[in-house]
Amino acid sequence: MSSSPHDNSVLQAPPALFDNSYARLPPQFFAEQAPTPVAAPQLIKFNAALARELGLDAEALERDGAAIFSGNKLLPGSEPIAMAYAGHQFGGFVPQLGDGRAILLGEIIDRSGKRRDIQLKGAGQTRFSRRGDGRAALGPVLREYIVSEAMHALGIPTTRALAAVSTGEPVYRERVLPGAVFTRVAASHIRVGTFQFFAARGDTDSVRILADYVIDRHYPEIKDRQNRYLTLLEAVSDRQAALIARWLHVGFIHGVMNTDNMTISGETIDYGPCAFMDHYNAATVFSSIDQQGRYAYANQPGIGQWNIARLGETLLPLIDPSEDVAVDLANAVLKAYGERFQTPWLAGMRAKIGLVAEEDGDLDLIQALLALMQQQEADFTLAFRRLAALAESEANETAFAASFKDPESTKPWLARWRERLSRDPQAPAERAQAMRSVNPAFIPRNHRIEQAIEAAIEDGDFSLFEALLTVLAKPYEDQPAFAPYAEPPQPAERVLQTFCGT
Ligand code: AMP
Ligand code: MG
Repeated sequence: MSSSPHDNSVLQAPPALFDNSYARLPPQFFAEQAPTPVAAPQLIKFNAALARELGLDAEALERDGAAIFSGNKLLPGSEPIAMAYAGHQFGGFVPQLGDGRAILLGEIIDRSGKRRDIQLKGAGQTRFSRRGDGRAALGPVLREYIVSEAMHALGIPTTRALAAVSTGEPVYRERVLPGAVFTRVAASHIRVGTFQFFAARGDTDSVRILADYVIDRHYPEIKDRQNRYLTLLEAVSDRQAALIARWLHVGFIHGVMNTDNMTISGETIDYGPCAFMDHYNAATVFSSIDQQGRYAYANQPGIGQWNIARLGETLLPLIDPSEDVAVDLANAVLKAYGERFQTPWLAGMRAKIGLVAEEDGDLDLIQALLALMQQQEADFTLAFRRLAALAESEANETAFAASFKDPESTKPWLARWRERLSRDPQAPAERAQAMRSVNPAFIPRNHRIEQAIEAAIEDGDFSLFEALLTVLAKPYEDQPAFAPYAEPPQPAERVLQTFCGT
């Protein structure tokens, strides 16, 4: 595409950029809302590779990125809306939440034919803002950028980061912070809470419209099934169970698994107080607002099931005219959730310890390792990565054992593991390679994120943010130049709490 300095070629790019199917739903689904312009936007980061994946003219977008990704300038065809939703927050139902600071610009069909939402977060007040200012602070925007892109590179379904912009305006939290806008790309922004919004109002027609829309958009393969709404519950349950299994494999703690933060598409969404754990402890909680540990690491699968039960409740009138029948059918789906989680979780854990063939005792072997890691405060990421090295060469045993407080404590488990490996013959180098492909060397360690945010806020220095993005783009490669990024925090660097991005 030819481009002179003033030619907004992206604005004319054929075919039409947007096809806004959600904005064509009935009016109760959203509020029309343009972003509120900001004073002095500056582009902090633009994800050109993702823009190209979306079929956009990355160069043109980047040239005009500050205006476009702050919401100061709308792309043609964009029909900005704030979506309506409800949600259970920490177990308590809130009948109206909605996009209080997010604005959906529209939908784009990407180069692979997939429909993707483009949304601004922090773009100003909407009908759903309640008492909020509709804005986002720079810190949480950088956190979401780093962690969502890291999750993608780890191979875990997630919303993506297209851009981050600083607004030149302050936002007022516990202290005054620089404001920012985050541009998020998602398969859709439909949540369990979107269904709850209509169900709570007794608006079964809208629940049905939403369910049909979701089936068309995310689960077209079930369209002709006999009980499509029950099958929808099953399908969402399946994707969420598999997603949460993936979180556990990498030590991810979402932190705020409210039903409004659980997608119907099966993507991870809403990176607020999320964090990856360093040393393994099943009870780990980072979020400052999660006093009871409701969303602790090991509680996540159970909370996933709880959230799916809430989705099931909204679908009951569609599943069967008899409530008793509907409840029985939905309960059967909920019961199957345990297995839907356990199967991918166990498969992934087997791979993490280098097994291909399956044996009954594998679960026990895996649990024994996790128990030892917890007791010995082993770093979750390093221990598995070093186990891969040990699979390659016995010379690496010392390094593996050094991840544990008492290195000697690893001996009995290692003996069991070696004995098990002997019944699963593989060339050591091949086994190690397979293990490295599922055990990352690099995760977005919390102390690194905090350091990057601190440097950006205090000094306008984005070099740590950039470095993190670079190293986390290839989490399964050793990258010796970035070796310190693989290390857990020093005691003084530990970050024990994270705060919601509000
Ligand atoms: P979250 O904790 O980010 O999932 O947000 C929960 C709800 O609070 C959603 O309805 C958000 O839109 C809303 N919210 C969060 N922060 C703000 C804000 N600064 N202004 C307006 N609404 C907000
Ligand atoms: Mg949310």
